[in-house]
Amino acid sequence: MIANLRNLSRLALPRRLASQSYSSSSFLIDQPEYSFLKELGLERENPGVYSGHWQGRGPSVTSYDPGTGQAIATVRQGTVQELEQTIGLAVDAYKQWRKVPAPVRGEIVRQIGDELRKYKEPLGKLVSLEVGKIYSEGQGEVQEFIDICDYAVGLSRIYSGQLINSERADHSILEAWRPLGLVGVISAYNFPNAVFGWNAAIALTTGNSVLWKGAPSTPLVSVATTKIVADVLQRNNLPPVVTLCQGGTDVGQSLVSDKRVNLVSFTGSCQTGRDVGVEVQKRFGKVILELGGNNALIIDESANVKMALDAALFGCIGTSGQRCTTTRRIIVHEKLHDQFVQALVSKYKQLIPKIGHQLEAQTLVGPVHTQQNVENYKKAIEEAKSLGGTVAFGGKVIQRDGFYVEPTVVTGLPHDATVVHRETFAPIVYILKAKNVEQAIEWNNEVEQGLSSAIFTENIGQAFKWIGASGSDCGIVNINTTTNGAEIGGAFGGEKATGGGRESGSDAWKQYCKRATITVNHSGELACAQGVVFNVE
Ligand code: NAD
Repeated sequence: MIANLRNLSRLALPRRLASQSYSSSSFLIDQPEYSFLKELGLERENPGVYSGHWQGRGPSVTSYDPGTGQAIATVRQGTVQELEQTIGLAVDAYKQWRKVPAPVRGEIVRQIGDELRKYKEPLGKLVSLEVGKIYSEGQGEVQEFIDICDYAVGLSRIYSGQLINSERADHSILEAWRPLGLVGVISAYNFPNAVFGWNAAIALTTGNSVLWKGAPSTPLVSVATTKIVADVLQRNNLPPVVTLCQGGTDVGQSLVSDKRVNLVSFTGSCQTGRDVGVEVQKRFGKVILELGGNNALIIDESANVKMALDAALFGCIGTSGQRCTTTRRIIVHEKLHDQFVQALVSKYKQLIPKIGHQLEAQTLVGPVHTQQNVENYKKAIEEAKSLGGTVAFGGKVIQRDGFYVEPTVVTGLPHDATVVHRETFAPIVYILKAKNVEQAIEWNNEVEQGLSSAIFTENIGQAFKWIGASGSDCGIVNINTTTNGAEIGGAFGGEKATGGGRESGSDAWKQYCKRATITVNHSGELACAQGVVFNVE
């Protein structure tokens, strides 16, 4: 399949225009090389709403391959009215699901993981095709969903409350974790499968039902993933504890403001996340916000520079700079700065022959997702230049079908330049020169976002400073590894404008639960706490 696609990007294909219409035969799904899409149950036209059955009466959206600009297939989104009906059905499903013992729920999640293993190859390929990320990253994204299913199966047998000592004789205090109800998941385009997986596996295990709205530009991943999950539910005669309503901002806003959605787990930009947070708070709902990052890699004087260069390469250019954890700033000790820039630029040069269609076997750098990403890239480069920055490598849009830009290194900007403080979702890194680790930490922390960060150091004192209270203020604080590419075992998320949410491993499951504090009096007499006496004879 990959070999078949090798020449794809060299075909003379039309550039994508929002209003462009394609003849039905130009859909990739109809071409034999793309038969993997049919393996996933996709058609040329797909309904985008699932609530036990498939429907969709809203506007139809066409999904495009960012690597060529060609149309893949279409999805008919849901209307606000369909969303409201779906919420009703998902709440009903929750009422049955909460009665199912947790380890039995875990068994269903295990089956979802097994089903994903069967479809990993075609589903991962679809993730690559629709987002623009390279083949191994598409496969890796589905693997992350499989991993979190495995994690959730174990969790289903061990998640628990506690027994707390009471100050009153023959009293016991219990703490129990109960499901919240319906969990709404709104996801971003760059992780269209794994973000849903992180949320769904844990939410289901802890007894909730799930309603998903994926990004409007990756609707095929949403539909294909939901089909895989729905098959497992149907096979087990379960109600629709996982539902889907694809849609745009109107559907997203309705989901966020609906009181029946007990928790909204939102992944997206800081700007949208701020509105979502306020809306959910207005109705006293719960919210997990997983928003943008402006992640720094610090190179200390003692760093293993060879390793740091490799980390910078993947951190800055992996996923064409479109991970929330992408390295956007490299803060280098002044003694190493010039040599580091030179070495990084020579590595970047080696990547040029590896820019190509995301499904070509040799590609390491695929396209960015849309024309909007290209525009944001151009704007950031112009702004960087106007503020006195030097483009040490790249800086140009690549003229070919699809949405390709050169991975770019910018030097010489002040650490607090506006463009340095903004998250531009493209492969641009700003290299800053710092006097010492203290200054580098200060600069690391001065941005609004607080998602990921990393230091390269061989100095144990600097390492512990970095992870201590006066160190990095981010949710992810790495040493001698990349800012991106987290595993599912730890809790994932960030501080400040990144929203404060945590998903995936550790005790992130608690966010999908309400905590009940239960005092049991087994003394046979009523006694008030703190020695309060309040009775009449
Ligand atoms: P986006 O904010 O444009 O969209 C995210 C989702 O929100 C989409 O499904 C969109 O349809 C929906 N939406 C838009 N307006 C809405 C509204 N008013 N109410 C409810 N929903 C609404 O983000 P994007 O461009 O798809 O994704 C890129 C951003 O996501 C980057 O900032 C990136 O850093 C961030 N991101 C964060 C994480 C994380 O875990 N922290 C992970 C992936 C992406």
